[in-house]
Amino acid sequence: MKRILGSLTVLAHMRGQKRLPYGSRPDIEAARDARVRAMVLHAARSVPHYREWFAREGLDPRAIRGAEDLVRLPLLARDTVRSDPRRFLSESRAAQGALTFLTSGSTGAPLEVHHDRTSLLANIAYGERERAPVIALTGGAFRPRELYVGYETSNFRKVIAFYAANTRLPRPKRRPVSMTAPFEEIVAALNAEKPDLLTAYGGFLDVFYRTVAARGVAVHAPKVVMYMGERLPPERRAWIETEVGARVLSRYCSVEAFKVGYFCEAGTGFHLHDDLCHVRILRPDGSEAALGEEGEIVISNLVNRATVLLNYPTGDMAALRAEACACGRSLRVMSEVQGRLEDMLPLASGETLHPRAIWAAFKDDRAVLQYQLTQHALDRFELKLVTADDASFPASRERALDRLRLLLGRSAAIEVTRHAELGRSERERSGKFRAVESRI
Ligand SMILES: [Zn+2]
Repeated sequence: MKRILGSLTVLAHMRGQKRLPYGSRPDIEAARDARVRAMVLHAARSVPHYREWFAREGLDPRAIRGAEDLVRLPLLARDTVRSDPRRFLSESRAAQGALTFLTSGSTGAPLEVHHDRTSLLANIAYGERERAPVIALTGGAFRPRELYVGYETSNFRKVIAFYAANTRLPRPKRRPVSMTAPFEEIVAALNAEKPDLLTAYGGFLDVFYRTVAARGVAVHAPKVVMYMGERLPPERRAWIETEVGARVLSRYCSVEAFKVGYFCEAGTGFHLHDDLCHVRILRPDGSEAALGEEGEIVISNLVNRATVLLNYPTGDMAALRAEACACGRSLRVMSEVQGRLEDMLPLASGETLHPRAIWAAFKDDRAVLQYQLTQHALDRFELKLVTADDASFPASRERALDRLRLLLGRSAAIEVTRHAELGRSERERSGKFRAVESRI
C-alpha cells in the first residue's frame, strides 16, 4: 500500500515535467512565484527561524509575492544554519518522517538538512527534465545503461532505500563501481558493461581519461559522460569530448537543494530549475550581479518543506547568461560553476594568483595525470605529482618547476614528490579534493 501511494505521488508530480522547460517565461515565473508564496507562508508559520524573524520585523509574510520579493528576506549565513539546523526545520506535519542528510562538509563542518517525504518522491518526477537531454544524446532509450563510478555514501544509500521502500517504479539501469577500485577494474567494468552513460565526479573523469590517453588503453566509449559534485574546467570537458568522442554533460545539485540546474544537449551551461529552486547571483557586497557578471550562487529551495532555506549562499561562483539557449528551453542558463574547491594563492610579491593559472602550467603535459599544490608559506610550496609512469616523472618535474617559478616567483621553494594517486583518501574524508590549497 505504501509503495502504491508513493508511486501515485510520483506520478501526480510527473504531469507536464517534460513540457515545462519549453513553456513560456510568464508560465514558468507564475509557477515559481506560487511556490515562493507557499514556501514563505509555510516558513512563517512553522519554521522557528522565520516565524521569529517575521514577528520581529512586523512584516506580513503575504507581502512576499514572488521571487523578486525574496530580497526582502535576509541572506542566511552558512554557519548560522550549520550551528543550529533545528531552527530551520519545520514543526509542521509536512516535515514529519523527513529524512536527514549530511553535507559532505568540504570545509570540515557538515551541515544537517532534512527533506520531507513528498518532496523526495516529487524529486523523481522533476528528474524527467534532466533525463530528457541524456535520453536524446544516448539514442532515445527510455533507460540508458549507466555505469556509476562513485562512493556509496550514506546519503546515496538512504535515497535508494527510501525509493525502494516507497515506490514501485522502474529504476535506472545503473551499475555502481567504487571510485576506489583500481584503474584496470574500472576499465574492465566499462568494457564489460558497455554503458551509454558514464557518471562520476569531475576530478575523477579528468584523471581517468588522462590515464587512458597516457597508457593508450582500449576502452569502451560511452555516448554521454556526466559529471557531478566537482567542477570540470571547460578546457578539460572539451578535451574529453574530442578524445573520447562522448558528449560531456553535468548537473548542479547539493544536499541543500536536490535540483538546481542541468546541462541540455547544447551544453551552454546549467538550465536552472527556476520553479523548484530560485537562484540569485550576488556580488561580494550583497547586491545583485548583472547578467553575465560572476558572483556567489544564492539559492532558495522552493520544494522542501522540512529544512527551509531561503537566500542560502552556496559558496560557489557562477554567472547568469544573458542569451537564451538554442535548445528552445525557457529555463534560465547559469555558467559553469567556479569553485570554492581551490584557494587563491597570496604571493611574496604582494600579488594573488588564481588557481587556474596553476592548472595552465600542467595542461599540455600529457604525462601529468594529476597534481596537488599546497602552499605552506608565502614562498614555500609542496607539489605532489601523479605521472603516467616512473620514466616520465623527472621530465614532468623539471617542466613543472620551470613554469611554477614563473608564476610563484624565482625565490619560491618548491618541493616535488611523485605519488601513485592523489585525493582518494582526502575525498573520502571530506568529500572534496583540492588541487590547489593555501595553508596560510
Ligand atoms: Zn539549452
